[in-house]
Amino acid sequence: MSFKKDSILMKGLGVSSGIVIGTVHLFDRGELEPVQYCHLDSRALDYEIERFNKALTESKDQILRIRNKLEEEGGQAKEHIQIIDANLLIFEDQMLIDDTIKVIREDKINAEWALKKVLTRLMELFDNMEDEYFKERGSDIEQSVNRILINLMGKKHENISEIDEPSIIVAHDLGPSDTAQMAKGKVLAFLTDVGGRTSHTSIMARSLEIPAVVGLESVTHQVETGDTVVIDGTTGTVIINPSDKVIEVYQQKRVRYEQYNQDLHRYRDLPAETTDGKIVEIMGNIEIVDEMGSLIDHGAEGIGLYRSEFLYLNRRELPTEEEHLEAYKKVAENMDGKPVIIRTLDIGGDKPLPFLDLDEESNPAMGLRAIRLCFDRVDIFKTQLRGILRASAFGNIKVMFPMISGVHELRRAKSILEETKEELTAEGIEYNPDMEVGIMIEVPSAALVADLLAKESDFFSIGTNDLIQYTIAIDRVNEHVAYLFEPSHPAILRVIKQVVKAANDAGISVGICGEMAGEPVYAIVFLGLGIKHLSMSAGSLLKVKKLIREVSYEDAKDICDTIMTFDTAREIEEFLASRLAGILKEEY
Ligand code: PEP
Ligand code: MG
Repeated sequence: MSFKKDSILMKGLGVSSGIVIGTVHLFDRGELEPVQYCHLDSRALDYEIERFNKALTESKDQILRIRNKLEEEGGQAKEHIQIIDANLLIFEDQMLIDDTIKVIREDKINAEWALKKVLTRLMELFDNMEDEYFKERGSDIEQSVNRILINLMGKKHENISEIDEPSIIVAHDLGPSDTAQMAKGKVLAFLTDVGGRTSHTSIMARSLEIPAVVGLESVTHQVETGDTVVIDGTTGTVIINPSDKVIEVYQQKRVRYEQYNQDLHRYRDLPAETTDGKIVEIMGNIEIVDEMGSLIDHGAEGIGLYRSEFLYLNRRELPTEEEHLEAYKKVAENMDGKPVIIRTLDIGGDKPLPFLDLDEESNPAMGLRAIRLCFDRVDIFKTQLRGILRASAFGNIKVMFPMISGVHELRRAKSILEETKEELTAEGIEYNPDMEVGIMIEVPSAALVADLLAKESDFFSIGTNDLIQYTIAIDRVNEHVAYLFEPSHPAILRVIKQVVKAANDAGISVGICGEMAGEPVYAIVFLGLGIKHLSMSAGSLLKVKKLIREVSYEDAKDICDTIMTFDTAREIEEFLASRLAGILKEEY
């Protein structure tokens, strides 16, 4: 294969499969640079005010464009329009405009400096307010002023939802809130400098079936908007400015890949049943309600993990009880009696929530995250629990607590749930009093006391993403240590085996909902360990079903017994690859 002179081949982490040939859109969120402070001559002041007014109009136009797009999209986007409307008013705020112009004139300084001064005064006012609502308005003003500053400094301020042409997004980093805005069709694929396989940005890409390669380190320096790029989201290969020959080869690969995916559809309504009759329940993970259609289309037998925190992203205020109810009810009704496991808020770590204004943490993955945040903000927790409980009257809903580290936390969460139930009963509001209560096993201390936790839980769901992160001490979003993120590390397999035993001994069900569940080879290992429930992104469901139907439970048990005797992840991977070579050969 020969490359054109300026072709560049890069290797990253292929985190969402698919072959794409397309045009790059270098995404620039317009990070705010330090403001320059200048004293001006009186003759320059009119021009400075003109610059300020222009930046103000530009900012307003940008927001209006986003609003129009959201309006066209309808659906969930409608919720954001109200927030945008409130923000538009900030650009018309006479106090902000008049004060900035006055400071430019009186202090004879540049518009950026004047705007900063006015912002500081306003923020002092808002910070001193007791009311949470007004405090949040303060942060709206800050964001809007930052937009004006970016425009004043001539920087671009892009938003993923504004991208018009079908493109490959290339960015230094993308957050889950960016991925959640990606519309399939418009975003053909994305590439980032940073990131890991189990970051929530990567997980979202798999859920939305948008091919992606992350951890490319310097891709933003290698491409320009308009470049042609070939991407293989399975192998992590990226070819910038490919030759015609390379394009042809990848076009053929793409056709084969699409054919493979189409063929998989015949497994949609078949059970994941081994050749010797053992059945595994194959469920789906969702982040936003809109993903449900794709899960149903891929034959999901329930929702094993609803990452409810996505309801809190891309907005400026907390969701109301009614919004919770509406989302969960919709999912439960669409699943038509099949189980729906709603995980309570797991914000923090790589899913920050700027409007909560939490303190900066030097170690957010181990900080005030998930259930810990809910204990700190019981008001937020209870609003969500009320929504979940109310929705439980409309379908087969179960609740699950994330990041439980020991029995004391489980008891505390359950006692808040009980309190919430009592309140609903007193108000005469309907809910399912027997709703099952489960926990994620994703913190090593929880795995070590799984026998104790099993006595007080209805089910376990093993979150391998965090369990690996915390057991091997590997930041799941850091591309520099991604090579150490080894799902088949003997420690991980041992810990999972121990949790499964604890659950079986206590007679409660145990499943896997981390990304490992959706990797066909590991699905075989889980089958061999006796796990009966696997929950994964839409894109993995059919592949896993197909593979389970091609092996026997006896073989899977034998494979598990053997790998448990190995010392390293590498030996385990090599053994799995050779033992399963026959059935894995058509895998993409
Ligand atoms: C996990 O940690 O494996 C998990 C499923 O939760 P999340 O990826 O949302 O942290
Ligand atoms: Mg987790």
